[in-house]
Amino acid sequence: MVTALHMRKALGRFVSGVTIVTTAECEDNDSVHGMTANAFTSVSLDPPLVLVSTSTRAKMDSRIKECGRYGVSILACDQEPLSLHFAGAANQPDLVRFVWRKGVPLLEGALVHLACTVVDSHPAGDHTLHVGRVDQLWYDDGNPLVFYTGSFRSLELLGRDDHMGF
Ligand code: FAD
Repeated sequence: MVTALHMRKALGRFVSGVTIVTTAECEDNDSVHGMTANAFTSVSLDPPLVLVSTSTRAKMDSRIKECGRYGVSILACDQEPLSLHFAGAANQPDLVRFVWRKGVPLLEGALVHLACTVVDSHPAGDHTLHVGRVDQLWYDDGNPLVFYTGSFRSLELLGRDDHMGF
């Protein structure tokens, strides 16, 4: 039998980055809700689509359905404290700084910002898959925060000349 623990242990061996997903009812910091998520993936290049999977138990699940838009901030390696904060594992509100882009709140200092409009929400077991069209994106160079087997890691990027050009 495949248990939730087996799923966690096996799938935790798939390396991911770490994001903060954000929504807001209006362009006001007081209306923002954020949540740490690594169940995030690129879906389509043309049209540009991404996907975020939220637990039906998370407040974020209903917030995304209500707001119809969400932001994704892909974290840099020095932003582990923020990811703990938005996972409810540490309370560090002083570290939280939002920047607004296209009416969507995003986390200052992240490597990538995506402003998305929800085009579909699919129920999937105890999660919901929220497909978002990327309305606009911004990115910077730097080392990402990495999550593997339940721990945060940092990835030392190879020198630029060593990169394969995919
Ligand atoms: P809450 O638990 O109420 O909020 C989360 C935290 O964010 C709280 O501490 C809250 O104070 C803070 N916060 C929210 N809004 C603001 C704001 N405006 N200003 C300051 N602080 C604010 N869960 C998933 O469903 N999908 C995933 O892909 C996923 N991936 C994860 C990856 C990692 C590495 C980790 C550590 C956790 C992951 N989780 C994921 C679990 C998820 O982050 C937690 O269960 C989270 O607590 C659920 O958030 P919530 O929406 O229920 O809101």
